[in-house]
Amino acid sequence: MNIEELAGKIIAGDRRALSRAITLVESRRADHRDQAVTLIETLRGTGRQAVRVGLSGTPGVGKSTFIEAFGRMLTGQGLRVAVLAVDPSSTRSGGSILGDKTRMTLLSRDPNAFIRPSPSQSHLGGIARRSREAVALCEAAGFDVVLVETVGVGQSETVVSEISDLFVLLLAPAGGDELQGVKRGIMEMADMILVNKADGDLKPAATRTCSDYAGALRLLRKRPQDPEGFPKAMMVSAVEASGLTDAWVEMQALVDWRREAGHFDGARAAQARYWFAEDVKHGLLAQLETDPARARMAALAEEVAQGRKTPTLAAEEMLRGFHD
Ligand code: GDP
Repeated sequence: MNIEELAGKIIAGDRRALSRAITLVESRRADHRDQAVTLIETLRGTGRQAVRVGLSGTPGVGKSTFIEAFGRMLTGQGLRVAVLAVDPSSTRSGGSILGDKTRMTLLSRDPNAFIRPSPSQSHLGGIARRSREAVALCEAAGFDVVLVETVGVGQSETVVSEISDLFVLLLAPAGGDELQGVKRGIMEMADMILVNKADGDLKPAATRTCSDYAGALRLLRKRPQDPEGFPKAMMVSAVEASGLTDAWVEMQALVDWRREAGHFDGARAAQARYWFAEDVKHGLLAQLETDPARARMAALAEEVAQGRKTPTLAAEEMLRGFHD
């Protein structure tokens, strides 16, 4: 594959080239990885700084419906929108497929939108590191907004918040005790809570849920990266496409404020540090899986099992050998 040529096409906004590039960064083949690293390096500093929006919610809250409606509202404003997915489940059993084009039919046909379903294999950490590169590719291709969708199961939110500029939690209207269903850690991560399905019979419940969460958000510790009034809870209806423009106005206000206050670049810098450390850790762990480290591990484990060495001593020996 000619990487220079691929990079040129991506910069020109060619969606097929973008798809191919994302497939390349998701590949686990060593030669592909080398090409992917070259490609990302070639594209560094090109394109534009998109607004990266992380979106999380449990299956059934209306993520697909919301992304379809929200994405079309954005393209209607002349913006180009990319949708990526970080899928925490390796099996996809029971859950809905993220970034499924058949559930976002209108948006997937929109020339100003790009939808990429989640890769099916590998563990979350691996996928997440590649998703970050996929986001960078979308920025190089000139997208204005990159939506990163995930299912709310705990761990994936952390990962998605580390690749996005703002994190949106999508909720459905519910009874009063549902509040406890959202883990505090996830609440603390959210910049905005959107209570979906605020329409028809569900409107009163949505109103209640929204004010419950607004109250809960006010009780959280104030974060330096938040202007007055954030994190914020709002109501939307993906089906009626209502509240979406308001939500976008608030997202932009938050981003603008953070840009001016230096928090936007600060957060991206912190994320770059985070992913650097993650890549180093991952690389070290990967090295443990290959010889001679693997053989050395096995030999030391045997000595530990036979009681000839304590686990602590053996570990120290292993690490010393590893560093030398
Ligand atoms: P996902 O699993 O989070 O992607 O959820 P879906 O987008 O597939 O939506 C799950 C169900 O909720 C579907 O039956 C949708 O029609 C319904 N739904 C989604 N958004 C709304 C909404 O704004 N209002 C109402 N009343 N139903 C909605």
